[in-house]
Amino acid sequence: MEISSREFQISNKMLYQESIKLFDRAKKNIPGGVNSPVRAFKSVGGNPLFMKSAKGAYMYDVDGRQYIDFINSWGPMILGHANHEVLEAIKKQADDSTSFGAPTEWEVDMAELICSIIPSVDKVRMVNSGTEACMSAVRLARGFTGKDKIIKFAGCYHGHADCFLIEAGSGALTFGEPNSPGVPKAVANDTLIARYNDLESVNAIMQANSGQVACLIVEPVAGNMGCIPPAEGFLEGLRSLCDQHDILLIFDEVMTGFRLTLGGVQELYNVQADLVTYGKVIGGGLPVGAFGGKAEIMNHLAPDGPVYQAGTLSGNPVAMAAGFTTLTILKNHPEIYTELTKKAEYLAKGIQQILESKSIPHTINQVGSMLSVHFSDRPVTDFDSAKNAAGETFNKFFHHLLENGIYLPPSAYETWFLTDSLVDSDLEKVLEVVKGFKI
Ligand SMILES: *Cc1c(COP(=O)(O)O)cnc(C)c1O
Repeated sequence: MEISSREFQISNKMLYQESIKLFDRAKKNIPGGVNSPVRAFKSVGGNPLFMKSAKGAYMYDVDGRQYIDFINSWGPMILGHANHEVLEAIKKQADDSTSFGAPTEWEVDMAELICSIIPSVDKVRMVNSGTEACMSAVRLARGFTGKDKIIKFAGCYHGHADCFLIEAGSGALTFGEPNSPGVPKAVANDTLIARYNDLESVNAIMQANSGQVACLIVEPVAGNMGCIPPAEGFLEGLRSLCDQHDILLIFDEVMTGFRLTLGGVQELYNVQADLVTYGKVIGGGLPVGAFGGKAEIMNHLAPDGPVYQAGTLSGNPVAMAAGFTTLTILKNHPEIYTELTKKAEYLAKGIQQILESKSIPHTINQVGSMLSVHFSDRPVTDFDSAKNAAGETFNKFFHHLLENGIYLPPSAYETWFLTDSLVDSDLEKVLEVVKGFKI
C-alpha cells in the first residue's frame, strides 16, 4: 500500500507537534515555509522538522527528539556539530567585530592554505555560497575564452544561477521541474546538456559547437542525483576532450572538496581541472564559497582584469575563522578521511546485506564519506537511472529511519554525508533500524 504524505503527517503528529506548529507559522510568511526547497520534505511527504541544537553526530529537534545526523548541513559539519575549536575561533573573531568590508589576515591565511593543499589552484577568490562560486567561475571562463556556451551534465547541480537550472538535479528534480520558469530562453540556449558518464555525448556536443564553448562544468563525483561515482576513465576523458577542443574544465567540488579527501576529487582521481569551485566544508558551517585555478586565468578577475566579481561580505572574518579552523583540523588529521571511508563502507555493506536478505531491490553507491541508497536493482550511473530508482520505497525508508531517530536527506536524489563524530554504536543503531524496515 502506498502511504500518502497526508497519512505520514497524521501518523507522525504526536512525535512532531512543535515542528508542525512552527511549520504552520512559517508558511504564512516564508514561501513554502522554508528558505531552501528541499528542506520542506515535499518529495518524501510529512512535516519538516525544526531543529534546536546539535552536538557531534546528533541533532535535537524542537520536540526534544534526538537524531543521528546524516545530512550534516548538507556536508559542512564533517567534524561534527559544534566542534569546540571551530566555535572558539568564531567567538574570538566575533569579539573583534563580525565584518569590516576591508581585507583581513584571515583571508590571506585562507588563500595560502587552499593554494598549499590544491596543486591546481594558484589563486583563489572567496565568495558566500557554492552558487556564487559556480556562477562566478563560469563568468570568468566566458570572459577568459571570449566564448558564451557552456556544457553541463543532466542531473548535476551547480547552484541556482540561471545558466545551471537546466536538468539540474536534487532540489530542482525533486519538484519535477528540471527547468525553472524565470530562466530566459536565451540563457538556457547557451547551456548544453551532456549525459553523465558518457564521453560520447560530450564529444558529440563539442563537435557540433566547435569554437563556441567556454567551459565544461561537472560534479566530478556527482552528489545531486544521489551519489554517482565517475566511471573509470570518465574524468580523464573529460580532461583530454577539453584539451582537444580548447575548452576550460571546471570541477564543481562544492560538495566533494575537503570531504572525499583533503584535496577533493582532483586528488582522489588524480585529474586536474582548470578552475575549481568550493563551498560546504570550506565554510565549516558558515556561508562560504570559493573558486580558484591557474594564475593565468584568475588574473582576468577584477581588480586585476576585466571580469567583474564582488561581494560585500566576501571573505567575512567570522566565516573565514570557521572555515580556516575546519580545514586546518582536517589537514592535521588525515586519518579522519580513512576513518570516514571505513564507516561509510561499513554502513553501505551492512545496509546492502539487510536489504538483500529482505529481497528489496537496491543499489548502494558510495565514495569516501558520501553514499546513497537507491531502490532499484539496476546500476545508478546517470540522471536517467537515478530517476528510475526514485520512488515511494525511498520515502517509506526515509520516514522509517526518521521515526527511529535517524535523519537522512529528505530526497532520493540526495547523498548521505557522514561526520567524523559518528561512533560504532551509531552505525549499529542504523543497521538495527534498517532491519526493521518493511515495504
Ligand atoms: C550545494 C552545491 C552547490 C550550491 O551551493 P550553495 O552553497 O547551496 O549555493 C553547487 N554545487 C554543488 C555540487 C553542490 O552540491
